[in-house]
Amino acid sequence: MNMFPEALNLYGDRGNIITLQKRCEWRGMKANIVEYNFNSNEDILKSADIILLGGASDREQGIMYSHLLNLKDLLKSLIEDGVCLLAICGGYQLLGEAYIDANQNVIKGLGVLGFYTKSENKRLIGNIVIETTLDVFPKTVVGYENHGGRTYHGYQPFGKVLKGFGNNGKDRFEGLIYKNVIGTYLHGPLLPKNPHIADYILKKALERKYAFDALEFEKLDDTLEYMAHEKVKELYM
Ligand code: GLN
Repeated sequence: MNMFPEALNLYGDRGNIITLQKRCEWRGMKANIVEYNFNSNEDILKSADIILLGGASDREQGIMYSHLLNLKDLLKSLIEDGVCLLAICGGYQLLGEAYIDANQNVIKGLGVLGFYTKSENKRLIGNIVIETTLDVFPKTVVGYENHGGRTYHGYQPFGKVLKGFGNNGKDRFEGLIYKNVIGTYLHGPLLPKNPHIADYILKKALERKYAFDALEFEKLDDTLEYMAHEKVKELYM
């Protein structure tokens, strides 16, 4: 389920959906991609296996938050029930109590998780390499970040920053893991250069839906994807 793709699609976040879709198709599985827009009925969210919440500029973010607040209770219950949610940058910030933007406007978040984000003038921009806390191989995750917001929380981080800024440029942590939620500042988009994270999400979604045995998961030829992954590491570390 691609949430408000017209507004929440900074730096090609939609590429994450294409990656998930292709990796299903290459394994002979059909993936239905559904877009959630302003006129969508919230009931369609209930059947989602994977939800993407992309990022946006402060202005779009402020507009979107008011629409997304209507979905607060439903999103919270889906998260508690183990839905896979990939929340990128502005989408990640939205999961918290509030986002205080560059003009110090307090934009109320969904509050499904207990943290907040505050923007500062100096933006945190550049390529980023992290070592993830998820049980995947390889452990590195590569991407690009561009955010004014500094996020502070006590949840499990998505990873430890090896190169770049991460959540706040201070504590060296990046992103957040809660149940099957991955919140992260990694744009770029995240999944094409990190197929192990794409497969982690697909496995979790299949396990939740079908009691799927991960051993049945066909391995794909990711030579090109990992060449890109390794090249980024080589260039930026
Ligand atoms: N507007 C937010 C910030 O600057 C999110 C940006 C984004 O999604 N890249 O922190």
